[in-house]
Amino acid sequence: MLEDLREELARESRYIAMQGLVAGREGNISARRGDLIAIKATGVRMLDASPADFSVMDLTGRVLEGPRPSSEYRMHLMIYTASDAAGAIVHAHPPYTLSLASAGTWPSPSTEEARLYYDRVCDVRRLPPGSEELARAVSEAASSGCRAILLRDHGIVFVARDLKEAVDGAVAEERSSQVQFMSTILDLLQKIYLSCGNP
Ligand SMILES: [Zn+2]
Repeated sequence: MLEDLREELARESRYIAMQGLVAGREGNISARRGDLIAIKATGVRMLDASPADFSVMDLTGRVLEGPRPSSEYRMHLMIYTASDAAGAIVHAHPPYTLSLASAGTWPSPSTEEARLYYDRVCDVRRLPPGSEELARAVSEAASSGCRAILLRDHGIVFVARDLKEAVDGAVAEERSSQVQFMSTILDLLQKIYLSCGNP
């Protein structure tokens, strides 16, 4: 079932890993077609993903084909159920975005590319990965129209109309955070330099 979609998901999974948004077995990805979704299986490295590593589920959570889905499947299902505009979801652990948030500098779309995909990064408090509470909190943020949702000390969820948009949006978000991170550091270094009496 959904062979072409699973093939596309596998290709995009590998791309996300190559962009540095996940490492090891981190992260997951899914896309919806009608009342069905295809989602990455649990324990699979995104860098190695193949079409057989994706499960097909209905929106009630029944697995129709393939291996056991990601432990975050509830979050994906709740987002699709809560938001008709959601056609694909990327969940990653991007280091620059997480660094900014944990240092108290909120990530925001700092580049033109990023602003094509999202207008703000929404905040979800720290909740256990894979839990129903986390799934509910993220789906509430998504149904309020937020596309880039930060899960404190954990990662980001990017929700979009289709798979390309979700992947490119998640990558643009992390690159924007990288620019924000580096410009914050450079700005600080300049201030230190000037405060030392340099011209
Ligand atoms: Zn995660």
